[in-house]
Amino acid sequence: MQFDEPLRRKLIEAVAATVIAHAEELTDLDQAIGDGDHGLNMKRGFEAVLADLDKIAAQPLPKMLQMAGTTLVMKVGGASGPLYGTLFLQLGKSLPADPTLADAESAFAAAIEAVKARGKSDVGAKTLLDVLAPVLAALRDGVADVPGAADAAAEATKPIQATRGRASFLGPRSIGHVDPGARSSALIVRAVCGVLAGQA
Ligand SMILES: [Mg+2]
Repeated sequence: MQFDEPLRRKLIEAVAATVIAHAEELTDLDQAIGDGDHGLNMKRGFEAVLADLDKIAAQPLPKMLQMAGTTLVMKVGGASGPLYGTLFLQLGKSLPADPTLADAESAFAAAIEAVKARGKSDVGAKTLLDVLAPVLAALRDGVADVPGAADAAAEATKPIQATRGRASFLGPRSIGHVDPGARSSALIVRAVCGVLAGQA
């Protein structure tokens, strides 16, 4: 697929719009098992990305993702800033300018490994990895409804007891709530898939 400037703009706009539109929901989730800042932090980060939209979307896809990642690291803060920053930075490093599906899968796999290393975490700890890893599996398995798989994976963080991040301080009381980072990841996946499906 050709990732020309109009498509790059659409991707940034769609991801930013969904994160900003769901800021309150993300904050509510984080209030249940964290410090209640996830929605506002993510909103601030993606507003900063949007503020630089012309400059960022003018770059080829790899550079665009790295610029967005750098902005997220600087603006989101908390635990999510470095994790999402790492995700986008590594995607930018791994992807060619016009990736095929196979390119996307291997870059996504590399990005997930980078997030694991950055967060010293793995699947099953009630974090965004509990959405990212199932999404990669869905892509590799050729699942038709990848956003649906992402939503289901976010929902499936509910019964998990957190062992990483602030929610882990709650111990068993972290059970019964969707992880905010898992939810924001599912939102981002849905936005990206929505734009790319419109191109096919
Ligand atoms: Mg928080």
